[in-house]
Amino acid sequence: MSDLGELYQQVILDHNKRPRNFHRLPRANRTAEGYNPLCGDHITVDLEIEGDTIRDIGFEGTGCAVSKASASMMTEALKGKSEPEADALFLSFHALVTGRTEAAAMPLGKLSVFSGVSEFPMRVKCATLAWHTLRAALEGKQEPVSTE
Ligand code: ZN
Repeated sequence: MSDLGELYQQVILDHNKRPRNFHRLPRANRTAEGYNPLCGDHITVDLEIEGDTIRDIGFEGTGCAVSKASASMMTEALKGKSEPEADALFLSFHALVTGRTEAAAMPLGKLSVFSGVSEFPMRVKCATLAWHTLRAALEGKQEPVSTE
């Protein structure tokens, strides 16, 4: 993964070592679980929604550095956002990591470091697992989501 860029590597390492919002929420009113069988990543995302605003967000799970860093950065990006904003960010992020940057509707800020993932199809599922799980939580899905 040496050509993914130094910033990308630094950010992944930092968030993998010290994941932000890495805890369950005692007052969560939406929860979803996601798996990426290809890599073995497993995540639970908790949301505290008030009106249509994400008041708080947390996650727990085990997985590779990319999946954990992506989940950590997702929680940072989404706190205080509305559900439609979260959806738009999901679409932009998905476009970024699958190399369809022209489709990006929302500025991604720090999340842009994940653009290097588009070169590694195996890693796309690691990077998007948290986001697919988020969407399942927002939609109130009961069954765990799987990237396969
Ligand atoms: Zn992974």
